[in-house]
Amino acid sequence: MDHAIDRLIIRNARIITENSIVEGDLLAEGGRIAAFGAVPGKAEGTEELDAGGLFLSPGFIDLHNHGRLGVNVMDGKESSLETIARGQMSHGVTGFLAGTSSAPWDKNLAAVRAVTRWYAGEREGMARCLGLYLEGNYFSMEKRGAHNPDYLRPLSVEEMGELLEAGSGAVKVVCLSPELPGAAAVIRFLKERGVVVAAAHSNATYREALAGINAGITQSTHTFNGMRGLDQHEPGILGAVLTDDRVICEAIADGIHLAPAILDMMLKLKGPDRIALISDSVELNGLPEGQYRFGDRTITVGAGAIRLEDGRLAGSCLSLDIAVWNMVTLAGASLPQAVRMASLVPARALGLQDERGSIAVGKEADLILFDGDISVKEVFIGAKREKKHEP
Ligand SMILES: [Zn+2]
Repeated sequence: MDHAIDRLIIRNARIITENSIVEGDLLAEGGRIAAFGAVPGKAEGTEELDAGGLFLSPGFIDLHNHGRLGVNVMDGKESSLETIARGQMSHGVTGFLAGTSSAPWDKNLAAVRAVTRWYAGEREGMARCLGLYLEGNYFSMEKRGAHNPDYLRPLSVEEMGELLEAGSGAVKVVCLSPELPGAAAVIRFLKERGVVVAAAHSNATYREALAGINAGITQSTHTFNGMRGLDQHEPGILGAVLTDDRVICEAIADGIHLAPAILDMMLKLKGPDRIALISDSVELNGLPEGQYRFGDRTITVGAGAIRLEDGRLAGSCLSLDIAVWNMVTLAGASLPQAVRMASLVPARALGLQDERGSIAVGKEADLILFDGDISVKEVFIGAKREKKHEP
């Protein structure tokens, strides 16, 4: 990686570390965090910046988003991926997974190939794409949510192998319903290849979900949304993912997909080290309120939500800066906890916690500065100060 400036000092910041907030400076060298706290005087060839008391936080990592500003990962176009990556960065995201959604098989493969060709490069002015999040096609009919029923497919190891081949190394997370026939074999197949398996859009009983976790599921996709409800006699998939410490629970913390009391409950049950805040942002995020036509479906954007004609939610218009704010204001998380749920936990979900996700010596200097309202002012990727593009 090429860095124009090797040393960066950010002075006078409130630094959000993994567990606390410390006032001081941060030094980055060669794109990585070299020291923080008190950093001695300026040396030659150092870019220095006064943060003016803003919060300095690790950049957010969005595991699950599909699009924004009228474009979708499923477009299979480089320009769409760049629009998403720029929009993400303007909200403090420095790393994200590109999320697919249910589609005809060929379109799926084309989207996987497009992201795979594009994702690894270094680009100016946009968040890093960390790979693919495959959400689609392997869901229960009852809990498919906004996914088109025509595209649901049976699970098979062969088909999963084809997807992994098309995505050579880029596929990081695969979503599936653990109650589908053949799920255990597919989960083991993915896990052996280092792919994270997330339980999603599922009507699984508690036993079926637990069998999935035992086979290797470590993540729960937009927990509560697209899942069988909790029942005192049949705790179902929610009973399993909320109580099993092997599972990191994604949460769409917009206050609509999950009522504030549910955010509070999740935080109490899972704790801040097992909740990953996600945006689940879709292509209508950032567009004016109103009705939009997609094939034979009408989708309405309004009042902070995106809904199908029957009122079902169809993705969100959330961004991670707002999600962090909501976890503090709606669920009573501390700021370091809320930031952790948007940075270190998602990094850990992907096995990237030694490289990124928190302010710690040796990690990539993917950093953001924001004010007390979590309004993002500056973004640094690999210690390089990026120009923010307002959406
Ligand atoms: Zn979904």
